[in-house]
Amino acid sequence: MFGPPGSGKGTYASRLSGELGIPHISTGDLVRDEIKNQTEMGTRINDYSARGQLVPDDMICQLLQKRISQPDCTRGFILDGFPRTVAQAQELEKISSTDLIINLDVPDEVIIERLASRLTCRNCGAIYNERFLKPRIPGKCDKCEGQLYQREDDRPRVIQQRLQLYRKETHPLLEYYRRKNQVRNISNKDGGVPPEKVMEEIINIIQTERN
Ligand code: AMP
Repeated sequence: MFGPPGSGKGTYASRLSGELGIPHISTGDLVRDEIKNQTEMGTRINDYSARGQLVPDDMICQLLQKRISQPDCTRGFILDGFPRTVAQAQELEKISSTDLIINLDVPDEVIIERLASRLTCRNCGAIYNERFLKPRIPGKCDKCEGQLYQREDDRPRVIQQRLQLYRKETHPLLEYYRRKNQVRNISNKDGGVPPEKVMEEIINIIQTERN
């Protein structure tokens, strides 16, 4: 799943994981787990993450490699938030391969509004929104009853920084995958397409590619 922060990668990757029966791997979740568990890696990457900067390629590739060597990944997996640089894409080719890049095209204004009201479950990482995707009980996760919080990097000042970084480092990757003819666009120009419709489009794309 490809797209700027707040474009819905995590939400759709998680739903798709249920549909396809393969794991959803969010490198952002891997990073947050390391920080939460206060591992040695966690202490080294904490600052990058809190400031909305990219974790250095070698460290994030190490985390990804460890995750995809788990037995549940043998039938495939859905990546969310990886690769984010051309160097990471090249590294990914050495350890695995990509079939399809679903690019969620959402404008900056919509992203800023969404991220500023996004809530994340401290326990399972599920994503909600104070305005658009409310939990059943305020402040509690529908799935695991974990506490919902605003990610430090979802604060307005950091959002701008993450968007700039996306344009500079990550967006150019689309060209890399276009050359492989793997990019499929989902356009949501005013952010008004309902999530169910976006999901339907994603499934259609995957079915077409499979046939
Ligand atoms: P995300 O949840 O995908 O927005 O990621 C949260 C933070 O984790 C990012 O702002 C980065 O600091 C770090 N991160 C996640 N994925 C990557 C990646 N592929 N490359 C570098 N840093 C990453």
